Amino acid sequence: MDIKQYYLNANALLEGHFLLSSGNHSNYYLQSAKVLENPQVAEMLATELARKIKEYGIVVDCVCSPALGGILAGYELARSLGVRFIFTERVNGLMNLRRGFSVRNGDRIVVCEDIITTGGSALEAADCIEAIGGKVVAFAALANRGFCKRVDSDLERKIECKLPFDVPLFALDDFIFDMYDEKSCPMCASGSIAVKPGSRGN
Ligand code: ZN
Repeated sequence: MDIKQYYLNANALLEGHFLLSSGNHSNYYLQSAKVLENPQVAEMLATELARKIKEYGIVVDCVCSPALGGILAGYELARSLGVRFIFTERVNGLMNLRRGFSVRNGDRIVVCEDIITTGGSALEAADCIEAIGGKVVAFAALANRGFCKRVDSDLERKIECKLPFDVPLFALDDFIFDMYDEKSCPMCASGSIAVKPGSRGN
């Protein structure tokens, strides 16, 4: 499956000068919501992700996503796996399970994002549900930005990856872009100003 082509077809692989949530600058941005606005595409991608997880022999009771970015991908993944779906959300900066969602003791949970960069939000969601008795059996994302090591990829794990070493990460592909801190960003050096994705209609 050529996941990159789905992003290109949906105009979801944006080129420009972007300020990422990590504070780094990049000349590309993945706008997963544009890919997932088509429910048939969302279902197809999630089905493929579910197939990989099942192939690996992982048994799942529930999918959990960190709001907001992971919700659509996680919901479709849960549907494909035939399990329930919950999400965590930040309240005053801290990840929480709200809205009456609960985790049963020993529930085997896949934490699903749209894109895994360093895995910071996914790890916060994992910590949140493990603190109340859940067991995170895998991480999943439509695409991996190349910092973390996904199952079936030759890419090595980078120092920036925050996910635990002993839990597998499943993603449909690796999307690797250059990232820069502000001081070494060549686009900044040429006088351009980084924009936060979403702030100018993207
Ligand atoms: Zn820059």
